[in-house]
Amino acid sequence: MPATGMTADPLIIVGTGSAGYGLLRAIRQADLGGEILIVTADEGASYSKSQLLDGVARGKEAGDLVIATADQMAHRYEATVLAHTRALAIDRERRVLLTSRGDFRYARLVLATGAEPLRPPVLRGTAADKVLTVSSLSDYRYFRHQLAGRQRVAILGGSAAGCEFADHLQRAGCAVYLFEAGSRLLVERLPALCASRLAQRLAGAGVHVLLEQGVHRVDHGVDGLELTMLSGERMTVDVVLSLQGVRPRTGLAARAGLEVRRGIVADLELRTSDPDIRALGRCAEIAGRPFSHPDDTAAASHVLARILAGGRARMVWAPRARHLQLSSCPLVLCDAPPVPGEWVETATRGGVTARYLDGRGILRGFVLMGDAVSMAERLSAQLAG
Ligand SMILES: Cc1cc2nc3c(=O)[nH]c(=O)nc-3n(C[C@H](O)[C@H](O)[C@H](O)COP(=O)(O)OP(=O)(O)OC[C@H]3O[C@@H](n4cnc5c(N)ncnc54)[C@H](O)[C@@H]3O)c2cc1C
Repeated sequence: MPATGMTADPLIIVGTGSAGYGLLRAIRQADLGGEILIVTADEGASYSKSQLLDGVARGKEAGDLVIATADQMAHRYEATVLAHTRALAIDRERRVLLTSRGDFRYARLVLATGAEPLRPPVLRGTAADKVLTVSSLSDYRYFRHQLAGRQRVAILGGSAAGCEFADHLQRAGCAVYLFEAGSRLLVERLPALCASRLAQRLAGAGVHVLLEQGVHRVDHGVDGLELTMLSGERMTVDVVLSLQGVRPRTGLAARAGLEVRRGIVADLELRTSDPDIRALGRCAEIAGRPFSHPDDTAAASHVLARILAGGRARMVWAPRARHLQLSSCPLVLCDAPPVPGEWVETATRGGVTARYLDGRGILRGFVLMGDAVSMAERLSAQLAG
């Protein structure tokens, strides 16, 4: 018999990304009944963001990436999904979510509002508003539309997504210019040698990697969008994509007076500073730790489903390795937790192994490149052990 654990008012989830829909699936898998209302600002389709990259390389339409529409998700998981509905405010005293389609009472509220792309801080010019980003299905649709029949793409930001997009667009036949204002790629995640090997591999594959080159103007030109670099040089491209990382989307939580630091602050039971409101996914942080890996979000969904069913569960962080989607350079990243330490890099002709050791010399994270990626399982086991 399904557990109930709910009062007459529904559980409301804000967001239909991997966190929101992951929770819905986990709740129904746990056989937890009760009314669930999901509110989302986007179209509510279920899709995998990592597939956007494959879509770019293979020229897929946005519709080809959809796993299930909002109606299909609602039907399959017995929920009400309000697509194109923005959550505007939370009245915590009355337990009411105020949205662009009316006010809804909740028994419990879960925030899964994700992260928003960082915009270039100072970008001027008549076409500065033409700079695109790709962090959702609708962004992807618009990007594909803008790219149709065109070829020259400038990417602003040597982030993981910047490098992955550069790699995939280059494979799709585009001329790609990857701008990074700093002196190396993935500056917060890669030690120096790995970063320089990555730049070499991307360049070897045909990507124009431009380090220490910021873009400060984008103007309409005769033959496309004219970029002006900080050095004063100019270049004309067809599409400009900004991929400078993301920041947790915390506005709704902050306006409601919940504790917010970098992300919405939650404890190991995903509870925010209001016990009736939980948070998970990219919008949240637990003990200063962001959700940067999809498996953490999936684990959190199951923890929360058990809690909502009336059981006890706590989030446990496991070391997670992520293979970047780079055909030109196999690369596995396992981010270290925020502890003091130092990188130790060992290079061979075919690869690089970088270990992040804490003050006691214990392995806390790693980066593997080229041939060295075969060591991922072994190093992950050392971390876990
Ligand atoms: C191109 C690309 C490729 C990626 N590839 C990988 C990969 O290979 N591996 C990896 O680990 N990670 C990858 N990521 C990151 C990964 O996709 C994210 O970690 C994950 O999608 C976060 O899920 P989320 O549910 O927390 O947020 P999101 O997927 O961003 O979902 C947020 C949801 O909240 C809704 N929302 C926000 N505010 C409101 C509001 N006020 N009212 C109503 N609804 C609201 C949005 O409409 C959306 O439905 C990639 C990201 C991108 C952009």
